[in-house]
Amino acid sequence: MASAREGDGMWERYSRQVILPQIGSDGQEKLSESRVVIIGCGALGSVVANTLARAGVGRIVIIDRDFVELNNLQRQVLFTETDVGRPKAIAACEQLERINSAIEVEPVVKDVNQTNIESMIQGADLVLDGTDNFHTRLVMNDACVKHGIPWIYAAAIGTSGLVMPILPDGPCLRCLFPNPPPAGTLPTCDTAGVLSTAPLIVAGWESTEAIKLLLGKPGEPRLVTIDVWDRTLSTLEVEKAAGCVCCGKRKFEFLSAEKEEIISTLCGRNAVQITPATPGQISLSRLAAVLAPLGDVEQNEYILVFRTQGYEISVFGDGRAIIKGTDDPKLARSLYARYIGV
Ligand SMILES: [Zn+2]
Repeated sequence: MASAREGDGMWERYSRQVILPQIGSDGQEKLSESRVVIIGCGALGSVVANTLARAGVGRIVIIDRDFVELNNLQRQVLFTETDVGRPKAIAACEQLERINSAIEVEPVVKDVNQTNIESMIQGADLVLDGTDNFHTRLVMNDACVKHGIPWIYAAAIGTSGLVMPILPDGPCLRCLFPNPPPAGTLPTCDTAGVLSTAPLIVAGWESTEAIKLLLGKPGEPRLVTIDVWDRTLSTLEVEKAAGCVCCGKRKFEFLSAEKEEIISTLCGRNAVQITPATPGQISLSRLAAVLAPLGDVEQNEYILVFRTQGYEISVFGDGRAIIKGTDDPKLARSLYARYIGV
């Protein structure tokens, strides 16, 4: 075993990619000196982590706030049945160590938000999107543009997904979405479902772009949209938006208090209230239809009450929600991202 891990084994391990003219031994050296931060270790994050660890990226930090659940195993390739109930970041890093003991991996079991992201991405050559919600992506976009770190935006749901490398001088995610969608208006994997091959292919594309950027190849600001079921792929040249709040005006709204999501524990009620950073009018009847297959739903024109797995989530028309059944803000945020979205 030792010989496969050290010395000459290093080059044997990577021999099939070193002979590629696109990589070579100089490229392999660059990968081994690279440091990436993967935010979110679900379907996308676990494929990206798996791929980059096998490719020999020298240091991989995995940040995730969630625990492995049985329904994750259908698509989250780093986890097995014995991981159910364990923090994803820990389970993922243990598996990566078994895959490649020649690299360094670091698990971080935390919720990434505007208060901690800047310290978490410090020193990274590249940040990778494995999140399940748009708000965290906006926080990542602000932090990466502010600190001049490239990142790759990626998302997958249903049978489709999209990827776009974002370089520090733009175009950035706000060039693409100047007005972010209000909470409760986007589908989530828990409400819309996901075919396992959609995140696999999207994350494969994301990993390829990651390797290219780490090798110093110029990034191209193209948004690639893939539907694995319909066999369609389209690319959109994204242009820097005139007067973009983030990469143009360098105003980092999602790192500041004005766009801050407010999460407060409601003392003595075993409940947590979440007020979204981007409130907006959401259609409670549409949300009721989406949630109906997943639990009990009651709805009137002011409020929707959704009960599932011992939790009761009350959603108001502006996206604010009260989650009963826990006083843990992280768990409440996770339930919100899962069922309401953003
Ligand atoms: Zn921009």
